[in-house]
Amino acid sequence: MHAATSPNPLTDTAPPNVLKNEDVNTIHSAMPSSPLFKLNSDAVKQVLADVSLHVVTVTSIPTPVSIIVCRECRMGVTQKNASTHPNNYHSIPISTKQKRLLEEAIQSLDVVSSNQELSYPLPNQPPIDGFKVYPGYSCNYCEFCCYSKATAEKHKSQVHRDIRKRAADTFKEASIQTFFIGNAHYFQVRPELEGLPSEDLYAVYVNTIAPELESLTNINGPVSQHELPLLLKETLWHQHLHDYVQDTKTTSTLVSLVKPPSALVPYGAVLARLINMYMHDIRQKAQKADVEVKYLLIECPRSVFFKSILRPST
Ligand SMILES: [Zn+2]
Ligand SMILES: [Zn+2]
Repeated sequence: MHAATSPNPLTDTAPPNVLKNEDVNTIHSAMPSSPLFKLNSDAVKQVLADVSLHVVTVTSIPTPVSIIVCRECRMGVTQKNASTHPNNYHSIPISTKQKRLLEEAIQSLDVVSSNQELSYPLPNQPPIDGFKVYPGYSCNYCEFCCYSKATAEKHKSQVHRDIRKRAADTFKEASIQTFFIGNAHYFQVRPELEGLPSEDLYAVYVNTIAPELESLTNINGPVSQHELPLLLKETLWHQHLHDYVQDTKTTSTLVSLVKPPSALVPYGAVLARLINMYMHDIRQKAQKADVEVKYLLIECPRSVFFKSILRPST
C-alpha cells in the first residue's frame, strides 16, 4: 500500500496553514494539556485508523498527492467531511474526545480534497491502491470514462456528434476509478496489470500492441457464424484433428500433449519415461537394420544418417 511508505504528512512540504512537527511541539509548550502533543505521524495514522480512514499517497500521477481515503468505501474523503464520514456513512461510533482528536489530526494533514486539484494517470495503468475499481465505460475517441451507459451515450451525442456511428459503437466496457465520488472524474485502469513490472511482456503488449489493435477499423467481420477464420482455412487443423476433438476425453488427451508436467509429477520421472521410450524404439529400429547400418552405428554413428540417405532403398 502506498500509505505504508507515504511521506510524513506532518513534515513534508506542508503549506503555511498546515502544522509541522515543530509547530506541534511549540503548541505543546504553550498548552501542555493539548492533545496535539501526541499527534506525531504514528498517532495521526492511529487516530485515522480507529475510524477506518487512512492517507494514501498517489505517486503514479504526474503530480503526486496525498488523499484521505475511507477503507470502507475505498473512496477519497474531503478534509471537511473526514471527521463525520465514518459515522454518517458507516455508523462507526466516534466519541466527543475522539472527534476532537480526529479533527486536529485531519487539519494537520497536507492532502487534496477534490478531483479538480488532481492530475490523472496515463491510460493503461494498473489500478491505484486503496481506491475502488468500478465496472464502467470508456470512450473510443477520447479519454472520457463514465459509470453508466446512458452517460456514455450522452457523451457521444454531445462531443462526437460528427462521428457517424451508433452511440453503442463509440465506447467500450472498461474498469474505471475516481479519487472522489463528488463531481467524479473517472479514468480507465487495467486490473490485469496489477503487480506486474513495466517491462513484463504482457504489460508491454497491453501498452503498445493492444491499443493499436483496438483502434483498427478495417477488419471485416465474419459473414456468418459458421465462417472459418483465415488461419484455420490455411492450416486445416480442424480437419487434421477432427478425430481428437469429438468429446471431452479425446480433447483433453490432445491438450495434454502440450501441457508441461505439473508439480504433482516429478520432472525426473517424466524424463526417465521419455528416455526409456526412446531407447526401446531405437533398439527395435537398430535390430531390424542392415548389418552395414549396425556396423556404422558402432564404428561411425554420426555418418549413419547420411549413409542411409545416400544408400538406395532395398
Ligand atoms: Zn466510506
Ligand atoms: Zn469521447
